[in-house]
Amino acid sequence: MPAAPLFHCSLAAALTLGTAAMILAAEPVSSGPEKAPEQAAEKAAEKAAEKAAEKAPEKAREEAMPVPAPSVMLQPWSGPFGGVPPWNEVRPGEFVADFDQAIAAADEEIEAIANRPEPATFANTIVALELAGEQLDRLETLFDVHASNLNVGPIPDIERTVAPQLSAHADRVTQNSKLFARIAAVYEGQEMASLSAAQQRLVEDRYQTFVRSGAQLNEAEKNQLSQINSRLARLFTDFSQNVLADEQSYVSWIEDPADLAGLPDSVVAAMASAAQDRGRPGQWAVTNTRSSMDPFLTYADRRGLREQVWRRYYQRGDNGGEHDNKEIITEILRLRGERAALLGYETHAHWRMEPTMAKTPQAAMELMLKVWPKAVARVREEVADMQAIADQEAEADGTEPITIEPWDYRYYAEKVRKAKYDLDFNQVKPYLQLEQLREAMMWVAGELFGMQFQELHDLPVFHPDVRVWEVTDRQGQHIGLWYLDPYAREGKRSGAWMNAYRVQSNMDRPVTPLVSNNSNFVEGNEGEPVLISWDDAVTLFHEFGHALHGLRSDVTYRSQAGTNVARDYVEFPSQLLEHWLSTPEVLNRFALHYETGEPMPQELLEKIERAETFNEGFATVEYLASALVDMKLHLAGRQPIDPDRFEQETLAELGMPAELVMRHRMPQFMHIFSSDSYSAGYYSYLWSDALTADAAELFEEAGSFYDPEIAQQLDEHVLSVGDTIDPADGFRAFRGRDVDTTALLRKRGFPVD
Ligand SMILES: [Zn+2]
Repeated sequence: MPAAPLFHCSLAAALTLGTAAMILAAEPVSSGPEKAPEQAAEKAAEKAAEKAAEKAPEKAREEAMPVPAPSVMLQPWSGPFGGVPPWNEVRPGEFVADFDQAIAAADEEIEAIANRPEPATFANTIVALELAGEQLDRLETLFDVHASNLNVGPIPDIERTVAPQLSAHADRVTQNSKLFARIAAVYEGQEMASLSAAQQRLVEDRYQTFVRSGAQLNEAEKNQLSQINSRLARLFTDFSQNVLADEQSYVSWIEDPADLAGLPDSVVAAMASAAQDRGRPGQWAVTNTRSSMDPFLTYADRRGLREQVWRRYYQRGDNGGEHDNKEIITEILRLRGERAALLGYETHAHWRMEPTMAKTPQAAMELMLKVWPKAVARVREEVADMQAIADQEAEADGTEPITIEPWDYRYYAEKVRKAKYDLDFNQVKPYLQLEQLREAMMWVAGELFGMQFQELHDLPVFHPDVRVWEVTDRQGQHIGLWYLDPYAREGKRSGAWMNAYRVQSNMDRPVTPLVSNNSNFVEGNEGEPVLISWDDAVTLFHEFGHALHGLRSDVTYRSQAGTNVARDYVEFPSQLLEHWLSTPEVLNRFALHYETGEPMPQELLEKIERAETFNEGFATVEYLASALVDMKLHLAGRQPIDPDRFEQETLAELGMPAELVMRHRMPQFMHIFSSDSYSAGYYSYLWSDALTADAAELFEEAGSFYDPEIAQQLDEHVLSVGDTIDPADGFRAFRGRDVDTTALLRKRGFPVD
């Protein structure tokens, strides 16, 4: 049974088999209105679930939910294309009972493989595992979309109940001694030499994953490990729910229109709509999310209000009281340290990084510390430019001069952008229509890989906003489906991400991929086009890069399909695709003014290009500060950690400039505390970006991002092969050599020594 076909970073850590499940979120440019789900669970239901979760699993099951008739959610998917997810038939009230049933069925399948009488072979063990657990995978797909896109009503409580059960199931698989003995027999046996390279890699990966998950521990240790994993699953869920609660419950209200000074109309309109949604028509709301905070801090003239909005946002999870995450962090880190020790690793970071491309914490630290001082130096320059403008303003107005504080950075950076590059992003936005940009991405996929997209209107979707396209190749052959869920709503997690409802495979039958892109744009009024920011457009292309990775997949085994690659490699295709947004081919055709239909003027295009690395000091430092703290936290071993103190001391040691903060402060750092997936792994975006920058230069050297030969190489050596080969080999085959990390410095406009 391969990892669940869901790429999710906020569910229980699926440190199951092969590759961990994850959400592929965009970083660091991710934005889009982030709406936090309301914890709308009724008190009684909440209590029942809490009680249930604390009891023995069997008991909890009986009491939490009576077992109904066989659920449609457990059936194989019906419909065209080998079946599609039956979103229209989901009954949230049945999730808990269905998970019981699907987990039990998956357990039985695993037992059957483990207890086979005949000697272990690749087919009867490794392939059998690939084929097992499909029912549970399908159910997880249905549930995970509810947890990330529709997290309202009973869903948070169901998640609290189900996450530890899934974790326990994963442990039962990797701790099954008979099963491990069979995997080891294949791994060490004579058949190995006769297998293909991809098959050998699959066996080795399966073997190593089992070892890393404790397959070689004794029974007492296995028990201890399970307890740690189960407790962590619960803590991860609590951590996320606390962040969501703080995003939901803190809103900055504006009643006086004078306080809107400086804000562009589109931002004011979004704030009015947010207020309306919260029952206060005629006022304006700055919600406690990145997409609300970011434009407000960029444009609002009222400094006091900027500070208020800034403080609320960066204080999420750190407000004391029932939603404070600090104690949870301390416990998570302690348990991770214990687990690493139990498994024989120096630290959690060493354990997590073993299956990555970087392989060791040291390699990741080296790359980060190569970039860090250059980024810090750039911040000093950026601050000096901003301070000069602030001083001039103070002099002109006869006011007291200010010192740039973190709530001033975005605001004065925007003024510097205008002064230095004569570039006002408000002039860009009217050219960035969501629909046109979606067309643009599809056009790019057609140019590069011959992919065609045809919208379908008769497939089930989980919300009326969701749209579906069939993807075909040049010959009209079916490739897969692409789902798009573009708009913010109550109960949708913030940011943007891709997931796979089903990954491509070709074992007993060809299975085509079903992938989805999700974002949080604010839906326009009836008939009005949705305009998005430049950063959001970049993110849109980023997620589409993940989607293409899933759709181009051409492998045999599910565990090796599409985005099931090393964590620090998976952002390479997505970050690479960002580059096509700014190609003249795309902008001239698709960046059309929403009123006049005119393409973006050449002059504006040139300004965007000239300002390409503007404010890169800020972007890199806020990201790297988080990535470095993540790594240092997980290198700290088993010493007890006080989150606030650790954060302050580490940043002081690093020489963090005072004018900005970590992109994700620890009490809100969902990447590393809502699951294991990006823990000791936030560096991955930088690692992948080194590959991206180097790959982009190959297209640049060829004189076009549409060079058919390079596109074909990208498809052949990167996109289609998934995890059938070592990522370093794939990159080398594509690039003709190992990565040159100086390209990363050039991309960000930093000096190369
Ligand atoms: Zn991504």
